[in-house]
Amino acid sequence: MVDARNTSRTCSVCKHEDEANRPSQTEFRCVTYGHTDYADENEARNIASRARAVVNRSKASERH
Ligand SMILES: [Zn+2]
Repeated sequence: MVDARNTSRTCSVCKHEDEANRPSQTEFRCVTYGHTDYADENEARNIASRARAVVNRSKASERH
């Protein structure tokens, strides 16, 4: 299960979580390093990194 509650305001690079990271609905701006990204892409990277453990497990099931 992937918890997506804070992914929209968490930096995908340094993992800093702050409401101030979101100056607008579509924009992401990290208050720690100042790097910017589209809010959707930043959120997608956060979800992907949280789901990585689950993906690795499913790769182990091969059919014969
Ligand atoms: Zn950052």
